[in-house]
Parts: sequence; C-alpha cells; structure tokens
Amino acid sequence: MDQTLQKTLMKYMLESKNDDSFIKKVNKLYTIAGVEVLLTVFRLLAGIDIPLEKCTMHWEKTQMHRQKLSELLGRNIDITTALCDYLQTATRFLNHPRLIESSQYENVIYESINDKLTGLFNRPYFDEAFNRQVALAKRYREDFSILFLDIDNFKEVNDTYGHLAGDAALREIAAIILKEKRDSDVAARFGGEEFVLLMTHTDNVSAFVFAERLRMQIAMLEISYLGQIIKVTISGGISSFPFNSDDPKQLLQMADNAVYLAKGAGKNTISHFKKEKRRYLRVKIHQPVLAQELDFNDSSTFTGISKDICIGGILFENNGPLPLGALIKVKIPVNEDTPLMLIGTVVRVEAFEDGRYDIGMTTSFKEMDKIANHEIAGILRLENMA
Ligand code: GH3
Ligand code: MG
Ligand code: MG
Repeated sequence: MDQTLQKTLMKYMLESKNDDSFIKKVNKLYTIAGVEVLLTVFRLLAGIDIPLEKCTMHWEKTQMHRQKLSELLGRNIDITTALCDYLQTATRFLNHPRLIESSQYENVIYESINDKLTGLFNRPYFDEAFNRQVALAKRYREDFSILFLDIDNFKEVNDTYGHLAGDAALREIAAIILKEKRDSDVAARFGGEEFVLLMTHTDNVSAFVFAERLRMQIAMLEISYLGQIIKVTISGGISSFPFNSDDPKQLLQMADNAVYLAKGAGKNTISHFKKEKRRYLRVKIHQPVLAQELDFNDSSTFTGISKDICIGGILFENNGPLPLGALIKVKIPVNEDTPLMLIGTVVRVEAFEDGRYDIGMTTSFKEMDKIANHEIAGILRLENMA
C-alpha cells in the first residue's frame, strides 16, 4: 500500500472535525492523486481490497448510502458504518468485517504528534493544544502559564562531548520534564534545545515554584555518557494568562523574552516576563546610590539617587548633568556590608523642569564578580515575584 497516501489519509481522519469534512478532503485528494486514494480509503476503513476499476463507483455509492441511512435514521451516520453497511448489504465484498489494524493507526498518530528524539509532543501538536487552551481559558476564566526552557551553553556540551552526548542530554532533560509535570500539562520540544510547557490552572506564582523545582532537578542531574558525567543547566521564562496577556501569540513571545531575562541574570535561572525590553529590566533601589565620576585625578564625586538598576544598565537621578561618555563608578547598597561597586559609562542624560537629571549608565555585569552577579540575580528574581 502506498505509505504516503495511507499516512495522509490517516491524518485526515485524525484532523477532520467530522466525517463530512473527511469526505470532502478525500474527494479533493482523489481529483489530484486519482483512484489509488479511494483504494486506500477502503483498505483503511474496512480492511478490504476493492478492484481498482470499481473503486470510484463504490465510493460514490457509499456516499449516497450514507446519506440515505442518515435520512432514514434521522442522525448523521459515520462513514465507516455507512461503508461497512453498504459493502455488506449491497455487495458481497464484506462478509466478515475486519478490524482496522489499530496498532498501525496508533503508530501514525504517535509519530504525527511526538518528537522522535525526546518523546515529548512536537511543535504542531503544542500549537494546537495551546490554541485550544486559550479558547477554554477565555470561556471559563481560568489561569494558565507558559514556561519556555532553553538549555544553557548547549553548544559547549556538543563541542566538548559530541553531538550524540548532546542528544542524550536532551533525552534526559525531557524525561525529567515528563516526570515532574502534571498529567494535564502539555510538554513539547519547541525547537533544537528548547522546550515549552503549557501549565493548565496555573498562575504565575505557582508556575514559578514549579519551574524552580524543575530547574534545580536538572541542575542536579548527572548525565552519564560513555563513562563521562555531563552536567547541564537550563534557563526558563514564564508568561501567564490572563495576567500578562490574553493573546496566544503574545504569550509565547513573552515567555520567550523572559528566557532572555533569565540568561541575562546569569543563566540557570527562571524569570517572569517583564514589559521592559530584555536588557532593561528595572528594579527599584530605595537607598541612595553613591556615584563618582572617574576623571584622571579620580576626584570629582557626587551623590545620586538610584531609580532603577537593570541588566545592562542603571538609571539614577542626579542634581546636575554629567557628560555623555563619562566613566563613572557607582556604589549600590544592595547589602550593607558589601555594597556593589559598578563601573560604567554615561549613555543618557535627560533634564527635567525641576532641575533634576536622569542619568543612564551602562554596566557590564559580565565583568562583575560572581557574588555581585548572584546578588543582582536575586534582586531581579524577587522583583519578578512581586
Ligand atoms: P545559551 O546559554 O545562550 O542558550 O547558549 P547555547 O549554546 O545553548 O545557545 P545556542 O542557541 O547558541 O546553541 C544551541 C545549540 O543547540 C546549537 C545546536 O548545535 C544545538 N542543538 C540544537 N538541536 C540539537 C539536537 O537535536 N541535538 C544536539 N546534540 N544539539 C542540538
Ligand atoms: Mg536556544
Ligand atoms: Mg541554549
């Protein structure tokens, strides 16, 4: 039997809303691919071979038979029933109806909705489930959340241990996701080393708690491959319905953006979506920040009040302007004993009517030490929870 035709028709059966739309699709395919289509339909629906030259006639009669049966019984009769009834009553083809080989059918279904490598759902299935969930959640006013996951430094894993080891890591991470998720959650492989989870009845806080648990489990995982132990971490982004948006596309985009926030906060991190652009997640610091302009004498100092600190930059308020491009040092009292010292460049100066100035400064968090990085990541996480 033509495997491609068979697969296509099985897909039609799966995807069609009702038998009318299945028949329509079959008829359309028949006009393109010819009578083989009908031969395959008979085999699939009734497990029977009909002589090729008779297929068109029997298919037309089957459709008429279905219509007649439906009118007679006052309800819509499905095509399989109509076909078997037709073959039994009007022809001698079907003396003993055969069962369609269900394992074969199940295999096709499995392959069409699952990712081969990980066994998680594939992207098309996720998209469908996601759209369904949005419609349901709108109707019943339910919360749900999206969690996007991206493996940290996965290129390095491939480069160090090889592509097959990378595949093994993907499989093991997928297994943890499957183990940890609830039955009603949909977990899919979104792309290469990216996963997505649709968490039903889950608000942003519960989603965060779950995602953190997942993150820690994965960080503890020891993947053994050919006698080597591979460690991986993931970064995750969360968006929630209706908290962030009620638009499916936007929700996905937001969760994806949140992954970048998590990466920026040092990776191995879960972040919620924030409206600000990914490099400018803002966190209020309520105590004064001490800023010092570093000239060649390292002398002129001033005190500003921090408005925001963010990945990639700090915005603070000052009583006077500062020259664009000036190199400054700021002390942020994140923690009384060990304030953060950041060095950066003035990139924005904005004057207000009351004589105050907003000073924007870039910082390179990459250059900061680990403790400082951790501290900032902690603050960002707390703010995300608020
Ligand atoms: P980051 O922490 O910023 O996410 O860094 P990264 O290296 O993980 O990110 P990047 O997107 O640059 O690299 C993703 C890598 O994932 C590149 C690609 O070779 C690898 N990858 C994608 N799909 C597969 C797969 O199916 N198997 C394996 N082994 N590797 C894959
Ligand atoms: Mg990626
Ligand atoms: Mg990655």
